Amino acid sequence: MNPNAPLIYLDNNATTQVDPAVVEEMLPYLTKFYGNPSSAYRFGKQVGDALELARQRVSRLLDCEPSEVLFTSCGTESTNTAIHAALSIDRDRQHIVTTRVEHSATLKTCELLAKRGYEITWLGVDSRGQIDLDELEAAIRPDTALVSIMWANNETGTMFPMDRIREIIRAKGVLFHSDAVQVIGKLPVRLNDGGIHFASLSGHKLHCPKGVGVLYVNRRSRFSAYMTGGGQENSRRAGTENVASIVGLGKACELAAQNIEREAVEVKAMRDQFEQSVGAQIVGVRVNGDAESRLPNTSNLAFEGIDSEALLMMLDDAGICCSAGSACTTGSLYPSHVLKAMGFTDCHARSSLRFSFGRFNSESELERTVAVLKQSVEKLRPLVVT
Ligand SMILES: *Cc1c(COP(=O)(O)O)cnc(C)c1O
Repeated sequence: MNPNAPLIYLDNNATTQVDPAVVEEMLPYLTKFYGNPSSAYRFGKQVGDALELARQRVSRLLDCEPSEVLFTSCGTESTNTAIHAALSIDRDRQHIVTTRVEHSATLKTCELLAKRGYEITWLGVDSRGQIDLDELEAAIRPDTALVSIMWANNETGTMFPMDRIREIIRAKGVLFHSDAVQVIGKLPVRLNDGGIHFASLSGHKLHCPKGVGVLYVNRRSRFSAYMTGGGQENSRRAGTENVASIVGLGKACELAAQNIEREAVEVKAMRDQFEQSVGAQIVGVRVNGDAESRLPNTSNLAFEGIDSEALLMMLDDAGICCSAGSACTTGSLYPSHVLKAMGFTDCHARSSLRFSFGRFNSESELERTVAVLKQSVEKLRPLVVT
């Protein structure tokens, strides 16, 4: 292990480096402006004004109204809130449609609901990670409370055809939640176009600190609070606001909105170059995910005959961070549920690593990563008995 190896962070779908401009925006709210935004005096109200500015900035990135932005503690809370709201609005509807490749925030929540008597329809995916739209349409019933489908997959980057999905669900008149955590800040989204009632976002996936998220709630849809107590967030989410982080999230969304088109092109060029070099220098590598519809920053690669955990450790020794499966399942012996749902064998799934790039990565970091990968794969391959 070389303790002096510079850190190369290629796990931006797990979390991201906080942008220095975000930290700067937050600092006054950790020091000088500590008032409670709900207080009646000016010292509190000016903090409330900062929350409203953040709400506006977030709404610009989402292309929605500020009143549709509900601040939460994380993407997971947002997802739980949407599911809870849908089930509370109409108690006669006890059926949920979702997919087998959701993040655990949705997956585990739906599994728990199934144990409590709710009915869940799990949509499968093909080898690209895409659902069948006819199957989606057929799965929606008169007693369906909610369809919950992620916008982009955190492990493979596969993006669902959100425009067509929302049309199908809209025609059925059913509530729709999308876990948009991975797409927001990476590609432009338009929530104002309609058809989406709830969408989840997480601050730490777009260069803001951990512990803040947003649930977009369409202004025309009914709602039922998950956290009850004080009247914060228009009585839709009780609890004194995480002011500094919300201010930071506003800044992070402003930065994302300003740079999103350029950054998407730059990051995609870096990712494509990385995949090309890996393919040229290492034999037996396959790209997992949908080549036609994939997040610009995500590269999920299967290294034939390699145990991804072993490869991950060798990269770690060289200061390179990436992930095998999602952060939440690493450490378990189970192969990724996403790759399994795509029909891959345990062996193929266990040979896969995810590299996810971001605005702070450089070409030289990727060159070094390809070199370390090549060396490591060569070391590991002779050990494999097939
Ligand atoms: C990270 C992530 C979440 C969870 O967000 P937290 O803020 O960490 O709770 C949910 N969905 C997807 C797709 C994610 O990548």
